[in-house]
Amino acid sequence: MKVEKCRFSRFINAYLDDELSEKKQKALRSHLKNCTYCTQELNSLCKLNSQLASFEEVPVPGYCKATIIKHARDYEASKSKQPRFALKAASLAIAASIILSLAGGTLISRQIFEQREKQNYEEVAFAQESFYLYFEGE
Ligand SMILES: [Zn+2]
Repeated sequence: MKVEKCRFSRFINAYLDDELSEKKQKALRSHLKNCTYCTQELNSLCKLNSQLASFEEVPVPGYCKATIIKHARDYEASKSKQPRFALKAASLAIAASIILSLAGGTLISRQIFEQREKQNYEEVAFAQESFYLYFEGE
């Protein structure tokens, strides 16, 4: 049977790690008496903790430590270089987008203007034709 999640279950980890105030510990203990979900959570976390504790600690070999430290230093060095590169890339992208939007705007306005001119010409031609037709009585 699935038990509905309880909002107090988020305190269980802190409870196990002894990070809760005495008042909260007491409140959680009395809550645990009536809450199936939190009790199950507590039991599974206790089980997990005891399983983790059973793992044997293996000493790290010296060459491994040196490699990890080198990678960490390389990473830190690359991180400090990144912002400058990112700034250059961003300013280039902004400049490119401004140029593109200007060129695009010019092209679009030119097309619209040409279309309008063509439309105006057609309207004038139609009006003239209708005018002549009216006068010629057709
Ligand atoms: Zn609960």
